[in-house]
Amino acid sequence: MGTSSNINQSITPEKPRKGTFYYIQVALGVAVLLATTFTAWTDPSLLPGNFGETLPEALIIQTAVAPELEIIPTPRSNPLVALVAGHSGNDSGAVCPDGLTERSINETVAAFARQSLVEKGLDVEVLQEFDPKLDGYQATVLVSIHADSCDYVNDQATGFKVSSALANPHPERAARLTACLRNRYGKTTGLPLHNSITIDMTSYHAFSEISPETTAAIIEVGFMNLDRQLLTQNPEQVASGIVEGILCYVNNEDLSATTP
Ligand SMILES: [Zn+2]
Repeated sequence: MGTSSNINQSITPEKPRKGTFYYIQVALGVAVLLATTFTAWTDPSLLPGNFGETLPEALIIQTAVAPELEIIPTPRSNPLVALVAGHSGNDSGAVCPDGLTERSINETVAAFARQSLVEKGLDVEVLQEFDPKLDGYQATVLVSIHADSCDYVNDQATGFKVSSALANPHPERAARLTACLRNRYGKTTGLPLHNSITIDMTSYHAFSEISPETTAAIIEVGFMNLDRQLLTQNPEQVASGIVEGILCYVNNEDLSATTP
């Protein structure tokens, strides 16, 4: 192997550190060995950039057969779910005459949902309302948890709402997350879907802050007046409804048979 010793000589430093020299020698030895055999049956025109006629064989082969040298981002083993605990770190949200705050409901539900999702093997991050991390935030799914006013409006002021952003870079994904949350939350909690989506929901601030690749929705889990008992006495069930909706989206569960 005359070419092997020529290459080694030409790049060997005069006083090499042993470790480095050994590594280079082994790498080149392997590369040249592979180059000699590989090029025997590989058309150089198939190699990247058609470098075959201008570069030494050793360089060609390092490009072609050593993908382990490339930096390949490690894919997440688990989907990342972000939960925004509505109003946390900022304000109390809606407040009842007896001092019950929307924020406390949101935080409790977010904590239960987080625990449940972690137990199911997902990575979960709970964020504050105006969390600095929201800027460009990347996750499989983000759900912001809120609750509706404690004011008595009328007997129809009961139920939950789900909305995604009005303008959405991936409308099909957002529609699917919304459908999953509506279906599973309604089934799990027994609450009716309240058919009023406000501009506060479709223009929710986090929608325009997170990465366009993050599928996001906001849920109003119920009204603090008429749905108070569920929200305060059974936050685990509320959380479970959100969790089932997220799992429906993440696992791409079939909605066709169950969509109301
Ligand atoms: Zn709110």
